[in-house]
Amino acid sequence: MSLLSLSDVNVFYGKSQALFGVDLDLGQGEVLALMGRNGMGKTTTIRAICGMMPVQSGEIRFDGFSLAGKASHEIARLGCGLVPEGRRCFASLTVEENLIAAARKGEWDLNTVGELFPILAERRTQRAATLSGGEQQMLAIGRALMTNPKLLLLDEATEGLAPLVREVIWTAIAGLKNKTDLAILVVDKSLKEIRSIADRAVILERGRSAWVGKMPELDQDVAMRYLGV
Ligand code: ATP
Repeated sequence: MSLLSLSDVNVFYGKSQALFGVDLDLGQGEVLALMGRNGMGKTTTIRAICGMMPVQSGEIRFDGFSLAGKASHEIARLGCGLVPEGRRCFASLTVEENLIAAARKGEWDLNTVGELFPILAERRTQRAATLSGGEQQMLAIGRALMTNPKLLLLDEATEGLAPLVREVIWTAIAGLKNKTDLAILVVDKSLKEIRSIADRAVILERGRSAWVGKMPELDQDVAMRYLGV
């Protein structure tokens, strides 16, 4: 059974339709890449899953529940851990306070997050505002993990970061895949890194699921046609 499934999901911004019958599904322990050029609907899909955008029609189910009408905090409590685009930590709180504010019981706690990102343990008494962009991104991932989610949603987790920092983050995500049975939905434009971590991909084109397949099937022709790379 799928942990997450979207069936024929339609979403509008006012009168303007952004998602046109999006379908996708994701099983426990699976890593699914949600890809597509700019403006194709990736962030809108993530927002719809997390209850931040109303779904006009269609259904989103998570862990056996329909998410229809559920508020973001209820969806988070069911086990959706979002790492939003643009990080968004509490700037005036310390690293530790940011992490504790998100905490729910489970294997992820201050120690295990500190093992995943040792720099966060080192900087635990520092205010989030004083962290580098990469450290803030690690904190955003740490915060989502502290909720002990069943599904981690990563929206452009490495965008705008230096190559070395990107590598640290991708290595951590690969580690999550190998060591836990967390499901991961990852939005990213970097095909190279996505290839090394995702099991399957869904490519959106103008708000529609235009291509669905296993990662090895995403060949040069598909990449050129839908991603322009
Ligand atoms: P990017 O890679 O640039 O982040 P994306 O694939 O995540 O793009 P979305 O941000 O989901 O795409 O945008 C999908 C469509 O919805 C686009 O046509 C965009 O212009 C539109 N859109 C996004 N946010 C809003 C908004 N707040 N109000 C109106 N239209 C929006």
